[in-house]
Amino acid sequence: MIKLNYSQATLDEYFARLTKEVTSKNSGIEINILDLDNEGKIKRYYKKSILGRLKTASEINNKKSKEIVKFYKYLIEFDINSKSYLNLKTLLVGTPSELKKAVKFILKNFNTIKFKSVSNNKKLDDNERILEIFNYENIRKYHGVFLLKQLNIKVCPYCGANNILIIERENNKLKALCQFDHFLSQSEYPYLSASIHNLVPSCSSCNHTKLDNPRKIVNPYENSLHDSFIFKVDTKSELDFILSGYKKDNLLEIQMTPKINNDTSQEGIITNHDAVFGTKSLYQHHTDIVAELYWKAHVYSKKYRTELKTLTNNLEKKHTLKLGKYIDELQHLNLTDKEIKRFIIGNYIEEKDFLKRPLSKLTHDIAKELGLLD
Ligand SMILES: [Zn+2]
Repeated sequence: MIKLNYSQATLDEYFARLTKEVTSKNSGIEINILDLDNEGKIKRYYKKSILGRLKTASEINNKKSKEIVKFYKYLIEFDINSKSYLNLKTLLVGTPSELKKAVKFILKNFNTIKFKSVSNNKKLDDNERILEIFNYENIRKYHGVFLLKQLNIKVCPYCGANNILIIERENNKLKALCQFDHFLSQSEYPYLSASIHNLVPSCSSCNHTKLDNPRKIVNPYENSLHDSFIFKVDTKSELDFILSGYKKDNLLEIQMTPKINNDTSQEGIITNHDAVFGTKSLYQHHTDIVAELYWKAHVYSKKYRTELKTLTNNLEKKHTLKLGKYIDELQHLNLTDKEIKRFIIGNYIEEKDFLKRPLSKLTHDIAKELGLLD
């Protein structure tokens, strides 16, 4: 739900890791990314790996294979000035908008390559060839932990409700407890199967729900869905809940409304996201947490919150609340204003932290509406 971002250093390292993998896997010649100005090596690479491999397979005369060779050549087109495989670099670490341009170019110029896999074709089809060169199988296995660590998130960016974590297993081995969703599907865009901005770490339920759903949704690397909507409680359902004496939380109805009233483009984004991931019905399971926020809004009045701030801050020695022996301990906490709010609502209160703990946006939006963040 929040915009994901990699640093330039991460993009560089990812490219270096994968280029080494892609080149060495197919050629047996290891080309170090730092040694890319060695033209001799590059030429040998062309000859021995891509062209050589197809030739020995006696497929070079096949029209389709020629297209594949052309495509490979396009991928590793070498730019001596930037010492880089120009197009391969764009596909691996290019921004979402660069990827869109690349897709347009590829579809236009390699139109005879079948980018959609044929299910009962036993021969290695075009898609598999391309998937093979990107060696996607290894991404999750060898780079999943790296990617998740760099993003520094603990919650699925599609739903904001389920954890995605890194755990330590025996022999100190780390494992990323998440799946990597291909924002643009592997079956239709095999050449984007290793693109860093096409790999969205997600919970398994979002990954499966989204599978090949043709609806247009927001790429978390491109935009923040948080900018489009806020969680609200339906007014009538709120009244019913209040009339139940703040007890029957199942009466509360969670809504996702555009941040700007009647903004049709935002409404479209919300409708599509909800249709793909079932977000509203997912959040409807958490009305108990919303009910607790209503309780907190009663218990932690503005006056009480101001007192808490005084008590947990050494700046003011005088206080009006009589908390006896706890006062000293509270003063040692020395909590900031933001920390007191976080303590009260039981979750992070700033958008930049929303992917650190499940349901942060829900608790933030409702707490704000209830005046708990004033
Ligand atoms: Zn999810």
